[in-house]
Amino acid sequence: MENINIEELVNQIIRGTEVTTSIKKEEVPSKKQTFHQPVVTDAICIFDTVDEAVQAAKIAQKKYFHSSLSRRKKVIEDLRNKLLPIVEEIATRAYEETQMGSVKDKIQKNTIAITQTPGVEDLNVVTQVITGDCGMTLYELSPYGVIGAIAPSTNPTETLISNAIGMLAAGNAVYFSPHPGAKETSIWLIELMNKIVKEASGIDHLVVTINKPSIQAAQQMMEHKDINLLVVTGGPGVVRQAMMTGKKVLGAGAGNPPTIVDETANIEKAGADIVDGASFDNNIPCIAEKNIIAVESIADFLIFQMEKAGAVYIKELSQIRKLEQLLVIDGKPNKAYVGKPASMILRDAGIHFQGEPRLVVVEGNPKMTFTVEEMLMPVVPIMRTPDFETALELALEVEQGLQHTATMHSQNVTRLNKAARELQTSIFVKNGPSFAGIGFRGEGPTTFTIATPTGEGTTTARHFARTRRCVLTDGFSIK
Ligand code: NAD
Repeated sequence: MENINIEELVNQIIRGTEVTTSIKKEEVPSKKQTFHQPVVTDAICIFDTVDEAVQAAKIAQKKYFHSSLSRRKKVIEDLRNKLLPIVEEIATRAYEETQMGSVKDKIQKNTIAITQTPGVEDLNVVTQVITGDCGMTLYELSPYGVIGAIAPSTNPTETLISNAIGMLAAGNAVYFSPHPGAKETSIWLIELMNKIVKEASGIDHLVVTINKPSIQAAQQMMEHKDINLLVVTGGPGVVRQAMMTGKKVLGAGAGNPPTIVDETANIEKAGADIVDGASFDNNIPCIAEKNIIAVESIADFLIFQMEKAGAVYIKELSQIRKLEQLLVIDGKPNKAYVGKPASMILRDAGIHFQGEPRLVVVEGNPKMTFTVEEMLMPVVPIMRTPDFETALELALEVEQGLQHTATMHSQNVTRLNKAARELQTSIFVKNGPSFAGIGFRGEGPTTFTIATPTGEGTTTARHFARTRRCVLTDGFSIK
C-alpha cells in the first residue's frame, strides 16, 4: 500500500493549495487532483477514550435537540455541500487505505451517500395526529440521544456519511466505531464532518470517535450506559455481539444475493446489468450479485452477453480448481483477495486472459465455496436449472435465509411477483443491477445500512428515531 502523508494533506487543505495524493494511475485520471476545501475550524472530536467521546456527544446532543429544526436542516445541507466537492479525495483515501474495490466506483458510492441520503424531511412521513372529543394525540419521531454506529471496511466512508446524515437529521449525536482497517480515513472523515457540523450549528462533538479504533473499543462502546441505540453495519459476528447487549439494535448483516434469469428476460440487458452489479467496487457491497442462476435454455446466451459486457467465463475444471486454490482457505474466502480486481485474481491464479475483465464468471454448482460463502470478490458462479421453479428453489437455498438482497431478470410478472414473495429479501430488484436497490440507477433513497436481521430494511432518518405519543386532553379538535 502506498503511504499518504496525512499531515501534509491536511496542511495543504488548510493552506487552500492544490492537494496531491499517491493516486494509482489506472484508478483515476493522471492529472493532479484539486480538492475543494471545507471550512476548517478548531473542533476536536477525536478522543482518547470511549467514555470521553460519549460524554462529549451526550452534552452536544442535548444542545442540538433543544435547537431548531432549521438548524438541523442547515447541518445536513452543509454536509452535502462541503463533502460533495471532495468526493474524489474521500474515495481515494478509502481505496488507498483498504486496498479494496476501485476509486471510480467508490466515487459513485460516496456521491449517492452524500446526495441521496434523506434528511430531516424523512421524519415527516411518520407524524400522525388523532383528534376527537377527548382532545388531540400526536405521534412524532424523537431522537434516541447518542447513537453508537459501527461501520464496515467494505463501505467505510459511505456508511459514515450516510449514517451521519440520517442520524443527525433525526436529532441525534453519533459515536462512530470505524473498522480498524480503515481507521486513518475514517478518523479524517469524522473530524471533517464534525467540523462542518460545528460550523453549521455552533455545536461541537455531534460526531465523535476515538483515536485508536479497535474491536475491544467497539465492544466497550456497545456496553456504554449513555449509548441509546446501536446501528451495526458489518458481518454476522458483530451483529450478534451487539444483540447480546440487550440494547435496541439496528443490525445490518451479511448477505449472499442470488440473481435469477429466466427464458423470458431481455438477455442482453440482463447480462450487462449482472456484470455492472457484480463487478461494482469489485463485488464488496453486501447487495452485489454473488450467484447467477439461469434457466438452461438461455444460459449460454446469457454468458455470451456477460462476456460482451466485460466478463471472463471459466468452465474448465482445472482452471476453476486454480481459482479455488487461490481464493479459498479452509472453506472460507482468502481475505487477501477480498475486493481485488478480476485481472489480478486471474493473473495470480495463472489463468490467461485478454484486456481488463471486470468480472470472472465460473461454471458453478450449489455446493462449491464460491456459491455458499459471501466471497466479496468479482468471481461469481453461474448455475443452470431446467426452469423458473427450480431456479427459485436454488435461489432460496443459496440465499440461506439471510433475506438480504436478490435480483431477477424476467418479463413474466407472475414469476417476478412469486420470487419477490418467496425470497422475502429486504431488497428485491427486478430487471436491473443490484445497486438499483440503493438508489443508483434505481428510484428511492440511498443507504449503506440495510438492516435485515432486525427487519428495518433500507434505513433512513426515521429509523434512527423513537416514536413518541404526546397527548393533549379536552381540546384542539375542530372537526
Ligand atoms: P466485519 O464484520 O469484519 O466488521 C464490521 C465492523 O464490526 C468493524 O467496524 C469491526 O471493527 C466491527 N467488529 C467486528 N467484529 C466485532 C466484534 N466481535 N465486536 C465488536 N465489533 C466488531 O465486516 P467487514 O469485513 O468490515 O464488512 C463486510 C461485511 O459486512 C460483509 O459480511 C457484508 O455483507 C456486511 N455488510 C452489510 C451491510 C448491510 O447493510 N447489511 C453493509 C455493508 C457490509
